[in-house]
Amino acid sequence: MVEPQEQVFEIAVVGRVIWNLHSLNNEGTIGNVTEPRTVVLWNGTKTDGVSGEMLKHIHAFWTWLQAKQNNLPLCGGCQTFQPQRADIDAGGLGRGDKVTAMTVALTRCVLCDLHGFLVREPTIHRQSVVEFGWTVGLPGQVYRDVHVHARHAPAERGVDRERRPADEERTEVAAQMLYHRPTRSGAYGLVTLFQPWRIGLDEVSYSYAIGEDERAKRYQLALTAYEWTFKRPDGAMTTTRYPHIEGLEGVILVSRKPVPVPLLSPLKDDYREKLEELGRIQDVETYRFQDVVSLTIILSELKKALPFHMFQ
Ligand SMILES: [Zn+2]
Repeated sequence: MVEPQEQVFEIAVVGRVIWNLHSLNNEGTIGNVTEPRTVVLWNGTKTDGVSGEMLKHIHAFWTWLQAKQNNLPLCGGCQTFQPQRADIDAGGLGRGDKVTAMTVALTRCVLCDLHGFLVREPTIHRQSVVEFGWTVGLPGQVYRDVHVHARHAPAERGVDRERRPADEERTEVAAQMLYHRPTRSGAYGLVTLFQPWRIGLDEVSYSYAIGEDERAKRYQLALTAYEWTFKRPDGAMTTTRYPHIEGLEGVILVSRKPVPVPLLSPLKDDYREKLEELGRIQDVETYRFQDVVSLTIILSELKKALPFHMFQ
């Protein structure tokens, strides 16, 4: 499918996923009740969702794991997966000269390059090369429930209540508790955009801070992180609510020259046909996938290509 040495400007993955019995993203916990994420669509419809932040965090984690394993450069903050990234070691970027600071930040760290950062002094900002929209429940195809669970204090069972001192009684109260946890199942629409042409691109001076070999490695790393994100969406509460991944389908869009790939919401049933039509009109390639296997095969093929080099 993909000829080696072909260049890739942008890639988008647009599709629908069926996740059962998960709780990948929540509003927060008040007392002993955890609230699931709720989002509102344009017509007022309330539905379930998993934020782009959560999907991006999962992608960042799989990027980090590969970078550590393959000894690719990581800055001091990203070595230990700190969310501040380049800002933790801003002293190493020099003072005042923004072009130099951006060049150093991009050269020294794969994760800062691919996932972006904000440094306060000198003030430089990098927008992520990978972007995720909300993974949003298809109206009428999402179900939510709240389950009550009990945490027991097994050591206290069978002990004669009257013979226990008062402070031991208090310990039991703290150890035993009821808590409420959401569980959700549904079909969700997801949208994500990857811009290989921006890998290593210093957007202060608009030149590439790293060589083409290093850019290619980072491109492959990001695609592998996508594969892992779809096969292993390690979000919140996976210790007891790991999603049952039942289905995945959609379309991958690939542009080989500076043409932005079209993006349409998979909330609409005909999103694949419309994207394919737009792809034909705008010279953007489209590849359908029916499950995680076919998605992985397409992404693996794309790894043979190279990130687009702008500004020859
Ligand atoms: Zn970093």
